[in-house]
Amino acid sequence: MSSTTRTVPPRITIDKQDLLCAQQAGHSKMRVYQCKWRTPNSSNCLLWIADNNFSFIEHLKNYHGVPSDNTRRYCQWDGCGEIMAGFELAYHIPGGGHIGMGVFCSGCQKFMSRINFMFHAATNEASSCPGATAIPGSYSHSRIVDVQQSLGHD
Ligand SMILES: [Zn+2]
Ligand SMILES: [Zn+2]
Ligand SMILES: [Zn+2]
Repeated sequence: MSSTTRTVPPRITIDKQDLLCAQQAGHSKMRVYQCKWRTPNSSNCLLWIADNNFSFIEHLKNYHGVPSDNTRRYCQWDGCGEIMAGFELAYHIPGGGHIGMGVFCSGCQKFMSRINFMFHAATNEASSCPGATAIPGSYSHSRIVDVQQSLGHD
């Protein structure tokens, strides 16, 4: 069999709950992102989370003690620090340029959401990088994993 020569992808640790949800929904593959939420000892959380808002809400609550409530707190995502309500975080992380559907600015190389980029690169005096172009960053930090295989890893 050729399986002995097959390249084994690096092992990643995926939130088990996400895998079980995907399995129940009958999905064989799912897209995951690595959590970069900084814990108090200043290291990043290394778990990989499914790319939907529900998964982020659950992950923030279960692993980082951040409930989906009205309390305003810092976004502890690597390099962020914006202040917002707990319930806004799960939308801010996927939509605010931390993962997924964002773009890199050709001017300053910053990663941001497409909407923020429109203002950021607009050709007016208020913008930071007028006329800069968007470099697609979409899904660049994500991986597609095999649900069954990942569950079998335990
Ligand atoms: Zn995390
Ligand atoms: Zn943030
Ligand atoms: Zn820029």
